Amino acid sequence: MENYLLSCDLLIRNCTAILPDFQLAEDVAIAVKGGTILAIGPDTDLGNRYHPKETIRASGKLAMPGMYDCHTHTVQQLLKGGTVDEPPIIWRRILVPYESRMTPDDRYHAARLYCLQALRAGITMFADAGSMDMSGTVQAAVETGIRAAIARVGRDMDPELPASMCDKTPEQSVEAMEDLYRSCHGMADGRIHIWFSLSSPMSSSPQLVEGVAQAARAHATGIHIHLGEHPAEVQTCLARWGLRPPEFLDKYGALGPNVIAAHCIQITDFDIRLMAERRLNVIHCPTANLPTQGVPKLLAERAAGLNIALGNDGATSAKQDLFEQVRLLKYVAQATFGTPVFEPTVLPLAEAFDMMTVNGARALGVSDRLGSLAPGKAADIVLLHTDHVNYLPTRNLLHTLPMVASSQDVSDVMIGGEMVLQNDQFVKIDEEAVLWEGKRQMEAMLNRT
Ligand SMILES: [Zn+2]
Repeated sequence: MENYLLSCDLLIRNCTAILPDFQLAEDVAIAVKGGTILAIGPDTDLGNRYHPKETIRASGKLAMPGMYDCHTHTVQQLLKGGTVDEPPIIWRRILVPYESRMTPDDRYHAARLYCLQALRAGITMFADAGSMDMSGTVQAAVETGIRAAIARVGRDMDPELPASMCDKTPEQSVEAMEDLYRSCHGMADGRIHIWFSLSSPMSSSPQLVEGVAQAARAHATGIHIHLGEHPAEVQTCLARWGLRPPEFLDKYGALGPNVIAAHCIQITDFDIRLMAERRLNVIHCPTANLPTQGVPKLLAERAAGLNIALGNDGATSAKQDLFEQVRLLKYVAQATFGTPVFEPTVLPLAEAFDMMTVNGARALGVSDRLGSLAPGKAADIVLLHTDHVNYLPTRNLLHTLPMVASSQDVSDVMIGGEMVLQNDQFVKIDEEAVLWEGKRQMEAMLNRT
């Protein structure tokens, strides 16, 4: 009998699963081999057909694709609780003094804490907008098993910044990004992607924008930018170049489908039209946007057909939890754009789910292999505990999940077929050591300044 069975590395059994197009399948099994999903189907069927090396019993759990945190700053983990209730712009008053004094060790420990927090929240890939030295973030991502799109920051035009945070010439900035690309792109079996970056249209010369656009094109990789974040950014661009920020970036070739633009708050309907024409990816970070920037123009962006994904932004004031971000976005967009015109669904649940998953994979250029649970896709799978009162009983789990789910429900995380978190325990990471060493590093940093 055994000879007729198909072999696989792992069989996840008796779970409920969210399949592409927001379809729910109950009592299914998922067969994984060589890091790839082989099959998803009725448990009795796959249970009879496959002979796995390892079986994971998952009754009472929900399987969903890994989530994508498309805008964060891993270095900010040692500043938790440091920016709440502070008036804008916190960048210059708080973040610059903090970041400019960081040592390579500080950055590594901060990035390791981020990876731990992200994995616990079911995030299987993140995009870091970058600081001047990203070696610690690369090392942390390699060690913890997470996927990452990491950029060394691009910035050449901000005379008020300390020399340690701004390059002197555009060439110097592009060269530093190229160096990181050459040394780290494709590391850890392709888990590490190196991107290019423009910190802000305010701190980029036209030569830097052009250089970054060309280099990213030459390497077929992406560009991570902040866009439409503050009124000061728009004022500066209009005063310097007579152009709004998206027009300025577009003039020098840096708006395209390989670009993720964080925030996009200070934008007009004409900006949205231009961004949609260039097939830019918009990344909203509601917990960062709402206190200091404004409400994302969600309805107009959706109407224009933009790909919209989510980011947690730095951990200084927010939990790294995309369920929380998407819920906040749904409520605030509804109140702002839906309620006044009697439109009940400014952000439908299926679209909200896509923003956490497949839209994120699309934004990060990996949706051919990632972003959904389907045969042939890489096995980046998250399991959630759903057998408790927040979910049960439910008349429609697909409607209940996005409204009640939390990072605390995540019990298992698999990336490329490897278990990273299993039954609430990290498999390869010493969680206590990461936390304790991170705390010690934060204290050392406080004593230094
Ligand atoms: Zn940011």
